[in-house]
Amino acid sequence: METIFTKIRDGVIPSVKLHQDELCFVILDINPVNKGHLLVITNESYPTLADCPEATLAHLMRLVKRADAQLRQTLGCDATNIVINNGKESGQEVPHLHIHVIPRYKDDQKHFLLSKEQYEEGEIQRLGRRLEF
Ligand code: AMP
Repeated sequence: METIFTKIRDGVIPSVKLHQDELCFVILDINPVNKGHLLVITNESYPTLADCPEATLAHLMRLVKRADAQLRQTLGCDATNIVINNGKESGQEVPHLHIHVIPRYKDDQKHFLLSKEQYEEGEIQRLGRRLEF
């Protein structure tokens, strides 16, 4: 399936590309949470994590680790957020698997996952049993 990222991969849409190999590529996000926010993207347009072969996923994560190190070393960020919006309802805008790596700084006041819920008494244990794998 053609997506904005396949067009970026093929150079039809311009981007700032940081890496390209036989499985994945890395670009700077044009609307960064902080400058240097980058996207590690599979070459193939797998819509979500579940669609992606394990070997490609492993490589994707290797690149995330390298990207994290590069952001810390080059920008001196204190931390990173590593995020996958996995499906439309999670906020995924581009249905083509990618991992956001976002540089973060002490007191940068960037909040992009704001709301948190409270568990009722015993609920977390019950849910834990249902979700074991
Ligand atoms: P998501 O909501 O996880 O699908 O994120 C898609 C991301 O792609 C957003 O953060 C956009 O800012 C980014 N994006 C969309 N178009 C481009 C583009 N042409 N170049 C770089 N990043 C883009």
